[in-house]
Amino acid sequence: MHTFEFIRPADSATAIAAAAQSKTAQQGADVRFMGGGTTLIDLMKLNVETPARVLDINRLPLDKIEDTPDHGLRIGATVRNSDLAYHPRVQRDYSVLSQAILQGASAQIRNMATVGGNLLQRTRCVYFRDTAMPCNKREPGTGCPAITGHNRTLAILGTSEHCIATNPSDMCIALAALEATVQIQGTKGARTIAFGDFHLLPGSTPHRETVLEPGDLITHITLPPPTTGSKHLYLKLRDRASYEFALASAAVVLTISNGKITRARIALGGVGTKPWRAPQAEAALTGKPANDANFRQAAEAALQGANPQSENRFKIELAKRCLTHALRTAAAS
Ligand SMILES: Cc1cc2nc3c(=O)[nH]c(=O)nc-3n(C[C@H](O)[C@H](O)[C@H](O)COP(=O)(O)OP(=O)(O)OC[C@H]3O[C@@H](n4cnc5c(N)ncnc54)[C@H](O)[C@@H]3O)c2cc1C
Ligand code: SF4
Repeated sequence: MHTFEFIRPADSATAIAAAAQSKTAQQGADVRFMGGGTTLIDLMKLNVETPARVLDINRLPLDKIEDTPDHGLRIGATVRNSDLAYHPRVQRDYSVLSQAILQGASAQIRNMATVGGNLLQRTRCVYFRDTAMPCNKREPGTGCPAITGHNRTLAILGTSEHCIATNPSDMCIALAALEATVQIQGTKGARTIAFGDFHLLPGSTPHRETVLEPGDLITHITLPPPTTGSKHLYLKLRDRASYEFALASAAVVLTISNGKITRARIALGGVGTKPWRAPQAEAALTGKPANDANFRQAAEAALQGANPQSENRFKIELAKRCLTHALRTAAAS
């Protein structure tokens, strides 16, 4: 692993980050914040991430989960994934989030991993993690060997000719369905971004994964007030039952009245280059009876436009069945 400077500031992380030279338009390769370190340190050991300075943000006062005045929830960026998953309000009012977190990684990793870090975890594409291989995301302009190579686990929605990497997060799929917002402290002040606008499609710039600019620090995630009587489900399909990333997953928040769906919020994981909200599926369900035929129709709508590669065509049907089953199970709960 290359040498780097480790800094533990009490309160001036953004100022230090802003002063550092940044190589990329995103967070900057020269200076990185560290939450739990479960992504960053891993990638530094592989020489994929090579920051000159690492700023430990764990002493910043961002470790609280608080009610908002409108009965939503404000979650600090250094809250651990396990603390969030087991928080009583999350389990009661936002259970899709709790379910999604608890199906990710392992208990030990969830104890370390932070909310901010989870939003910025990097793809598990094998070429990205191997510095002997070209990769547009790691080294812009070098090419994408995954398109003609091993792509079984990679994305079928939101891909481009420059990158087909899957966003690997489970937590983010639930946050997309819950319509969270992301609070950011930047060098020019604070701003709020709708969750759906936070991650970027790869397009011709796959190295830019989010709207973050150099020096930006995620401070909080805010959840809107819960929808009374909504039914929540996160279903994750993967090669083995634990400690594995999703091949396909679905986060579903449904409100049903007199057998009809009055509100649906749906996001898919394991298939998109970013956490994949499915507005076509939501529209296909709204006002319709909660039955299997309508659930399958919504799943067809969600996967319209899927663009499979040589090894991952199976994900289209897998994701449809995943969503159909998640909707059926949520409706029956
Ligand atoms: C073996 C293994 C299995 C895993 N399995 C799963 C899984 O099944 N599902 C899943 O969803 N995840 C899985 N993960 C990923 C895990 O959830 C992430 O590594 C974790 O959430 C990252 O959080 P962290 O706090 O450790 O991030 P860090 O490593 O500290 O940071 C990650 C990135 O975010 C930046 N960053 C951190 N905090 C902030 C902030 N507040 N503002 C701005 N930038 C910030 C860092 O600079 C870095 O670039 C797995 C990880 C491992 C190692
Ligand atoms: S899919 Fe993306 S991350 Fe994977 S090799 Fe291609 S450019 Fe790199």
